[in-house]
Amino acid sequence: MNFIDTLKLRSKLFSIFIILSMSLVLIGIMGAININSMKKNLDSLYFGSFVPVNELNTILQTYHDNLVGTIYKAKDMKIPQDEVKSEIKLSISIIEREWKNYETHFKRDGEFAYVEYTSSEIKNTNDFFLSIYEALENGQDIQKLSFDQLEKKVTYIHQVIKKLINYEVEVAKYERKNFLIVYESSLFKIGIFLLIIIFGVMVISYYVLKSIQSDQSALEVATKKLKIANRRLESASYTDSLTSLHNRRYFNLVYDREIKRAKRNHSYITFMMLDIDYFKQYNDTYGHVKGDVALKSVSAVFKEVLKRPGDFVFRLGGEEFGVLLTDTSEINSTSIAANICSAVKELQIEHEGSKIDKFLTISIGIACCIADNALEEELLISKADEMLYSAKESGRDRYALTTYISVATAHHLEEESA
Ligand code: GH3
Ligand code: MG
Ligand code: MG
Repeated sequence: MNFIDTLKLRSKLFSIFIILSMSLVLIGIMGAININSMKKNLDSLYFGSFVPVNELNTILQTYHDNLVGTIYKAKDMKIPQDEVKSEIKLSISIIEREWKNYETHFKRDGEFAYVEYTSSEIKNTNDFFLSIYEALENGQDIQKLSFDQLEKKVTYIHQVIKKLINYEVEVAKYERKNFLIVYESSLFKIGIFLLIIIFGVMVISYYVLKSIQSDQSALEVATKKLKIANRRLESASYTDSLTSLHNRRYFNLVYDREIKRAKRNHSYITFMMLDIDYFKQYNDTYGHVKGDVALKSVSAVFKEVLKRPGDFVFRLGGEEFGVLLTDTSEINSTSIAANICSAVKELQIEHEGSKIDKFLTISIGIACCIADNALEEELLISKADEMLYSAKESGRDRYALTTYISVATAHHLEEESA
């Protein structure tokens, strides 16, 4: 699992994008709902209290029903004369109040002149009714008063006010139409604006995701390279540069591990110490460079003979080598040691300085046992060292074996090959 996957960065970014888009769509829907309700409110305002026709209608109604109606009733003797007087006063005050209210509403420039004209006509009409009031006040009989002007005056003021009402309704219709146009275009603009934002978010998210992906690929490649480099470095740190055999560092690691494993399993464990015979003389005779070549050739022989996965060969230093064999009996261990000795000799590396042969030879000390808990790690090495000394002492180009490693080990066998 890599770094980016661990953080789940991609899915987090994707959810942010989804949440952002959903929120924008939600804002869009909410906005549209709100604008729609605003539209309804404005509609009811225009055709409800906002359009100032109520006052005008009240004025018309007062002229018709309250004033003219009362006067005709009085003429027909249906109501007393005093009632007419108070009705005239009350009606005129209603008309004046309604007109004042109407005048406070917003007026367009073209409207002023006609409003002024209507105002003077209302005053005229009111004066006419006040003259009737005066006459009645002066004790004149309503039956004897002439009403020729009454119909004319009321019809005329009706026309004047009706015109104003029609004008107000027309203006309201016009304003509403304008508002609807603005509303539609606003809705359209908001929709387009939200779409652009969502598209922008999508594009940005796409590029962010792409860059993360390429970063991730780069990271994966870098990690792979790093792993390879690490492996190389690790193997280099465990490899002897001249012979390409495992070095002492690796020996320390493997030896400890394999001894423990053998102890656990109570299995065979063999350690061999190998040392080239008269190598000092070889260097003295052929030079150090040739000595190195000989070390490489001998190492190649070791690798050739020791091919099992449980076999390990190490260059422990100079011309000394170590071999670790797992699950290998003493018989097999000696057979391997004998093979190594003969294979080295068969290389036929001329060695004039050797006191025992004309070719380069090797001596091997072997310590082999079945591991048990009493086995001391260092003992196996020192026993192999002892056996190497013994092989050298008894003539070189041979191996010497001991299985007497610790008190607990059952075997006791010492052998030398000629
Ligand atoms: P013996 O049979 O008793 O082992 O005699 P020997 O001369 O081999 O004695 P010893 O093992 O003490 O000699 C080790 C010599 O190996 C000393 C040195 O000249 C040589 N040697 C050690 N390391 C290297 C190396 O890396 N390259 C070369 N060319 N020679 C080395
Ligand atoms: Mg030596
Ligand atoms: Mg030597």
